[in-house]
Amino acid sequence: MAETIIIIGAGVAGLAAGCYAQMNGYQATILEMANTPGGLCTSWKRKGYLFDGSAAGLAGSAPGSPLYELWRELGVIQYCELFFGENFGTIITTSGKAITIYSDINRLETHLVEHFPAEQESISTFTHAIRDFLKVDPPMPQTGGLKSIIAGIQAAALSLPHMPSLMKYGRLTIRQFAERFHDPDLKQVFHNIVHFGGTDVPMLTMLLPLAYAHRKMAGIPAKGWLDFARAIEQRFTELGGVVEYRAKVSKLDVSNGKVHGVILDDGTHRSADRVISAADGRTSCYQFPGIAEDVENTPFRPEKLSDQPVQVNLGVADPFADVNGPITYLVPVPFEAGGKTHTKITIHTKFYDPSAAPAGCSAVTSFLDSSYAWWKALPDQATYSAEKQVLAQNVIAAIEHFRPGFGEAVQVVDVSTPLTRERFTGNWMGAMQAFAPDRNLVRALFAGKSGYMLDGIKNYYMAGQWVEPWGGITTAAQSGRKVITAICKEDRKSFRTVQ
Ligand SMILES: Cc1cc2nc3c(=O)[nH]c(=O)nc-3n(C[C@H](O)[C@H](O)[C@H](O)COP(=O)(O)OP(=O)(O)OC[C@H]3O[C@@H](n4cnc5c(N)ncnc54)[C@H](O)[C@@H]3O)c2cc1C
Repeated sequence: MAETIIIIGAGVAGLAAGCYAQMNGYQATILEMANTPGGLCTSWKRKGYLFDGSAAGLAGSAPGSPLYELWRELGVIQYCELFFGENFGTIITTSGKAITIYSDINRLETHLVEHFPAEQESISTFTHAIRDFLKVDPPMPQTGGLKSIIAGIQAAALSLPHMPSLMKYGRLTIRQFAERFHDPDLKQVFHNIVHFGGTDVPMLTMLLPLAYAHRKMAGIPAKGWLDFARAIEQRFTELGGVVEYRAKVSKLDVSNGKVHGVILDDGTHRSADRVISAADGRTSCYQFPGIAEDVENTPFRPEKLSDQPVQVNLGVADPFADVNGPITYLVPVPFEAGGKTHTKITIHTKFYDPSAAPAGCSAVTSFLDSSYAWWKALPDQATYSAEKQVLAQNVIAAIEHFRPGFGEAVQVVDVSTPLTRERFTGNWMGAMQAFAPDRNLVRALFAGKSGYMLDGIKNYYMAGQWVEPWGGITTAAQSGRKVITAICKEDRKSFRTVQ
């Protein structure tokens, strides 16, 4: 009989782990506390409008990238239609200039130089940096054996010429890079180039996605992120795996230092030979195994976490026919909401998916910086609801300034805070990408951190964004692959994939 594995969580990492477990002869059951797959990578409907809870491009989603194989193995290429945008967004500066961050580097360079001829040299430095990363691919998880040695040598050979740039832009922040510009409008563009979260993050986090976009390797799910998660779920069930929804795990069943299964919130017991937690990192390390957190030495510190944005979703009777990418408005009067001061608003319309809104209407989403602690400190539910409304009204008023009549066209208002995210996915403090990428990013990526096992508990493993040096959808999928690779190694089996 096949060895059994319980996987906690049907986020991208859990679903991926499930697929690879099935491909390698294990019988996997995923226990998910929500009623849909995807975790953070999700979408939801409100009164006929579809809103996405994630805002990424899928790295490696076209042939030619090593990651393409990953997405094929997971069923994404087969079951999820992808859309490839022509730009990353347009920033409307306070002087009214509309600057578009085109996916095509040549077009981007021409456009920037056209608007800022005096800055040609610095613009070239920027576009040269993107070009430098055109041949750098996110590493594919190692599978062991000769294949992995060859892949390792190939990756090292390809990365070597780019090492100086990787080291440089892995440390230099976007804010620091923007200091080289003299034109206030161009400075403004760079200070607002990321849609939310500050610019105190390594340039690499922007350059790599721009390089993938140029290569048409950063598709977004045409029907939303839940559709993407459903594609991997379909692959998992086709491979013979089982998913149970509304199945919240409260702790592991451990005796004699070995895991035997899990205990659900309702008290029921599920046996398995192995357990993988692909849930929140803090829960996986402490709550599930019943270990007291060492507050002095815990890695889980609020200041280490990634952004905790608040999401404002609006259903609007406006087709946004003039829009083909995200738009960032620099608001004339900064406003306070969600514990932060806001000087800009980026709106995403699902212009590429006519089924996301009723005819002639648009599903509009804006992610704004916010603070989990601020939302958490609100005294009661009534104040919390009122603050969500304040935030939504501020966003509507800011957009109204640029699109007169917008406010009147709003039909649906839906606000999701870091508390909402924490409640629905269990992620501590509603952090969107687990730990924040820091200046040690490149070192961490090359160190190939492996935190898949917890010392002292045999047959218990962890996967997902919290055990990797950098969160994100691709990272989560790779993490699911890597944890099964580690298990195969323990069992002295060659890791295999099935197309
Ligand atoms: C607003 C936003 C924007 C983002 N933008 C990007 C981007 O541009 N690019 C990018 O790559 N990534 C982005 N991300 C991050 C990306 O979505 C995540 O890093 C990734 O989806 C994490 O996957 P995961 O499987 O590790 O974890 P999760 O998605 O957190 O999955 C964990 C799963 O475990 C379940 N679970 C938790 N506790 C239990 C329990 N006790 N019992 C049973 N089930 C449980 C949860 O319900 C959840 O389904 C964004 C995220 C957000 C929120």
